[in-house]
Amino acid sequence: MAGNGLPRPPGRGTRVGILSLQGDFSAHARVLEALGADPVFVRRPEQLDLVEGLIIPGGESTTMLKLVTEEGLLDPLVAFAARHPLLGTCAGSILMAADVTSPRQPGLGLVDISIERNAYGRQVDSAIRSVSPGDDFLARTGPGELEAVFIRAPIIRSVGKGVRVLAEDRGHPILVEQGRHLAATFHPELSPDRRVHQLFLQKIRA
Ligand code: GLN
Repeated sequence: MAGNGLPRPPGRGTRVGILSLQGDFSAHARVLEALGADPVFVRRPEQLDLVEGLIIPGGESTTMLKLVTEEGLLDPLVAFAARHPLLGTCAGSILMAADVTSPRQPGLGLVDISIERNAYGRQVDSAIRSVSPGDDFLARTGPGELEAVFIRAPIIRSVGKGVRVLAEDRGHPILVEQGRHLAATFHPELSPDRRVHQLFLQKIRA
């Protein structure tokens, strides 16, 4: 509770990095600000020292991986992830994965998932669907269906033993958790529903 008796905004005073080399990083900043957190655009390794968690946004994962490598961010990101939570959305979830197909590319191995890129096919570039999250997600964030915005989205084809599936769509996991990390194949930053970011902030504060 804040001093005025109102519930404290979940993100208040929390500095959250957003990897901002490419993709829809500014949409994440608006959500974090709405939740009372302080977004920090991360483009260089030393900026990771300023933040308590990091969002890897959607975009184009091959380009993002190339830029991450060129900027010398690859090892610093993995080291950061050993101590702090990461949230990857769409291309971000591809970067975090252990196994990436279609086409194959290296993943950072932060979440034990096998993920297939652009897996819904060219005919269905994007879609917005209402999904029923699992009880665990609802208990931690509040009730209600979740709006999932898919844009040239990947599909998680398999998950390792340590991975918890928080939401599924059409039989595929679309939001997963492993330890301190979260990965979503959709774009929660493009929906008015803020529960995925709220959960991420809870994990940073925990
Ligand atoms: N199709 C993109 C990729 O494979 C991801 C799309 C997105 O982030 N919206 O990297």
